Amino acid sequence: MGLFDGTALQRPVTCPACQKQIDDCHCPRNAEGVPCHPKDQRILVRIEKRPGGRKVTVARGFDPVASDLSAVLREFKSKCGGGGTVREDTVEVQGEHGSMVLKVLLELGYPGRIG
Ligand SMILES: [Zn+2]
Repeated sequence: MGLFDGTALQRPVTCPACQKQIDDCHCPRNAEGVPCHPKDQRILVRIEKRPGGRKVTVARGFDPVASDLSAVLREFKSKCGGGGTVREDTVEVQGEHGSMVLKVLLELGYPGRIG
């Protein structure tokens, strides 16, 4: 019996996302501490024009706390062969790579769509 059993301070015993004991859970969590997996996120992909007519492929809508965005960027850069950057909930890669970016997102477990 725990000290706080039956009170508001009692911790949940299992993770709602993976059903493991909380101490064994390694789910990524968002800023509120709620489990947030790639499959729980909805990523919008679109081609945007930058000043000078340069085109970039932008994937927007990541949870920036729960997601390893530098790993996403690394994958985008290696598959699309261009430079890129991470800002807040967005990962972008230089050039027009809509279908490749969608494919990489899918491989990483993120549901993405053109939008
Ligand atoms: Zn979990």
